[in-house]
Amino acid sequence: MDCSSVTTRIAAFLDGQLGVSECEQFVMHIEACSECAELVMKLECQQFMPLDTKTQKAICGRPEFWNDMDCVLDTHLDQMVLTKTACLGPWHSRRIAMPVPMIAAYAAAMVLAVVWGMQQQDRAVTAEVASEHLGQQLESERRLAAQPTPPATSSTYKVVTYTPERGTF
Ligand SMILES: [Zn+2]
Repeated sequence: MDCSSVTTRIAAFLDGQLGVSECEQFVMHIEACSECAELVMKLECQQFMPLDTKTQKAICGRPEFWNDMDCVLDTHLDQMVLTKTACLGPWHSRRIAMPVPMIAAYAAAMVLAVVWGMQQQDRAVTAEVASEHLGQQLESERRLAAQPTPPATSSTYKVVTYTPERGTF
């Protein structure tokens, strides 16, 4: 038996719950190992008396026992939750406590959004100008097309033949 298995068995040894062979090995070890012997002596000096089964049943058998245990556990859990939430604090202090890379990322995203927005605006303005220009061109061409073509001065034909509906006079 080595030191670690002896230390895990000290309580059982003091309670007299070790098997015969186990107890022999335990005693053999503490006789040879001063450290473990000292530990056993210390625990023995605390004079911890294990409860006998009758007292155990008397304490744990009560219906209030588990209610009391539940109460204690609930209070402890509540306290744990409270301390955890208390660490977080109100939302504004959490915002200030935000890590620097996160702030940098937010700032970068903001800048990108603004730049993108400006580019979109520029693009929109350019498109508007281009469409306006196109419209003007179309309008002037339409006006040009609507104007009657001037009669060719070099034509040998008389004007009368040019407008047949007026050719009666
Ligand atoms: Zn030992």
